[in-house]
Amino acid sequence: MVADVAVVGGGFTGLWTTLALLESQPSLSVVLVEAGRFGVGASGRNGGFLDPSLTHGLANGQRHFAAELAELEKLAEENYVGFRAALNEHAIDCSFEPTGMLEVATQPWQVVALHEWFAAHRDRGHDVELLSGAQAQERLESPLVQAAVRRPNAGGVLDPAALVDGLADAVTALGAQLREQSQVIAIEAANGGAVVRTELGHVRARKVVLATDAWSRELVPQTRKHYVTVYDYVLVTRPLSSVELASIGWKGREGVSDAGNHFHYFRLTSDDRILWGGYDAVRHHGDALGEQFDRWPPTFDRLERHFRAFFPQLSDVEFTHRWGGPIAVTTRFTPVFGTAFGGRLHYALGYTGLGVGATRFAARVLSEQVLGVQSPLAELAYVRKRPFPFPPEPMRSIAVGLTQRAITKADANDGRRGVWLRVLDRFGVGLDS
Ligand SMILES: Cc1cc2nc3c(=O)[nH]c(=O)nc-3n(C[C@H](O)[C@H](O)[C@H](O)COP(=O)(O)OP(=O)(O)OC[C@H]3O[C@@H](n4cnc5c(N)ncnc54)[C@H](O)[C@@H]3O)c2cc1C
Repeated sequence: MVADVAVVGGGFTGLWTTLALLESQPSLSVVLVEAGRFGVGASGRNGGFLDPSLTHGLANGQRHFAAELAELEKLAEENYVGFRAALNEHAIDCSFEPTGMLEVATQPWQVVALHEWFAAHRDRGHDVELLSGAQAQERLESPLVQAAVRRPNAGGVLDPAALVDGLADAVTALGAQLREQSQVIAIEAANGGAVVRTELGHVRARKVVLATDAWSRELVPQTRKHYVTVYDYVLVTRPLSSVELASIGWKGREGVSDAGNHFHYFRLTSDDRILWGGYDAVRHHGDALGEQFDRWPPTFDRLERHFRAFFPQLSDVEFTHRWGGPIAVTTRFTPVFGTAFGGRLHYALGYTGLGVGATRFAARVLSEQVLGVQSPLAELAYVRKRPFPFPPEPMRSIAVGLTQRAITKADANDGRRGVWLRVLDRFGVGLDS
């Protein structure tokens, strides 16, 4: 098979890139090749928080991209507006609710941290509201909530699997050729382009986009230094009754996270279940990936205990679904862009835990690179600069283990960051989900 562009990986990065390519050049032939079903990776399994930030939050943006933060915030807003416009234009029904976000403090030290967080957002002109314990309880009733910051215009929540389906329909309508159940086993440089091989055949293309996030090192080993893989897990309850819903308040239906270093995130779904996830970010030995990690009972148990403590009024509500998925984490928590095979292959990976919105922006960058468009985006440090690399094994496991233990200790120690975390902070590197 011959195509102008072969896109490998049918998650949000691959789908949005295919869409951007075909919207820019409708006559282009694009083949999208996916090992399993579209969305089987992180894109079909995530919490569905659409946060407009491209920098994994304001503080992280200030730490890594201070000089161009104003530009990145403008691009983030543009991306969010474009995201919503695309849902309309392609009639994608993914139950998007523009609820905004709520950050809650569940410990006294988190209250202090939230006040600082609020001030930083307010000083940059973000629309934020600081809520006392009593005000926060009016929005979300839990004995653990001590304060909150509300960001009413900071995105919302959606159904990620429905977004995958909608994007797949949109690119099909624009003429993309989609190949599911087609695992790519090798990518090779070839005359004037590259060959993408599967067990059953191959695609010869002028350009290749690698959109395989946590799996990228399997096809392009040089990407390995850019990221570690952690598994993030979620639980989902049965639909709540109206009485149960009334018992927790939450009329604004915001996407919520708490202010711990190991943090929970939770939201209501369109059928009024609670999706409750996060806290542990489990790195399996050697960044291993596989179906055996999709379920992780120790984390499921811990998440359930935390849920019961947060919402004691829902002590009888059972969980009907539990799952996990891999997240590629860079040391600066924002994606890395790169090329391989002498510029014939372009990749973007490593969105850490905020890929729902950022993948669409990355797709814009990738499509411009593939089409050779001269664009100011290519000049951004966000696109140009590589994150500090992770070391090879065994140092990688030692460093990640140390960091995870230090984060746990900081949470148990009123948020105080020990020596190891302070050293990492100084070098501008870290671990998050
Ligand atoms: C549990 C969980 C919760 C999350 N919650 C949120 C959230 O609420 N908000 C948010 O913004 N982000 C969240 N994220 C992160 C977000 O989901 C990801 O950043 C984003 O989906 C990455 O998209 P992607 O297309 O780059 O990668 P993926 O969706 O992982 O897609 C990569 C695709 O490549 C395919 N592939 C791999 N190898 C091959 C091969 N050899 N041949 C062909 N295909 C291959 C895979 O099957 C997969 O479909 C969460 C992630 C997880 C796991």
